[in-house]
Amino acid sequence: MRRCERCGTSTWHLCSGIRYEKSERAADWYMKRMYWNCMNCGQSSEESKEVPEPTERVMLVKRLLKVGEDYDVKGVKIESDANTVTVKVEFPEYDPARLRRLAYKLSEENFMNVSELMELYKAGFRSQEELEKLLLRPMRYRRKENIGRAVFD
Ligand SMILES: [Zn+2]
Repeated sequence: MRRCERCGTSTWHLCSGIRYEKSERAADWYMKRMYWNCMNCGQSSEESKEVPEPTERVMLVKRLLKVGEDYDVKGVKIESDANTVTVKVEFPEYDPARLRRLAYKLSEENFMNVSELMELYKAGFRSQEELEKLLLRPMRYRRKENIGRAVFD
């Protein structure tokens, strides 16, 4: 919630853009400008604040967190202390690519032998709905919520 000048009260806003500017090349901070629009009346407003320059560590952690979005993993856990960053990637017990092939097979040929069916079943894909989710996986279906949060001290 932000205060809207036109509405005269706090309203929900949508962020329409973010820009980082560096006023002096030697400065160790950036000016972060955020552009907001009131969801009630559309009035635009701007918010600026100084943010510290991202460190190598921050940039690395951001990149590592993306691993969880780009690969079919169960979870990514990142711990960061003193001078180390530790990444722990957990894979699902099943092979996602293989299961996806089985799901395709089932949806296209409508036939599957018992052991293949059991394989899907054991991995937790037990209904038509679950199988459809599996087929959507390459489109990053619900991967976001599997990503562990970075732990900072
Ligand atoms: Zn407004």
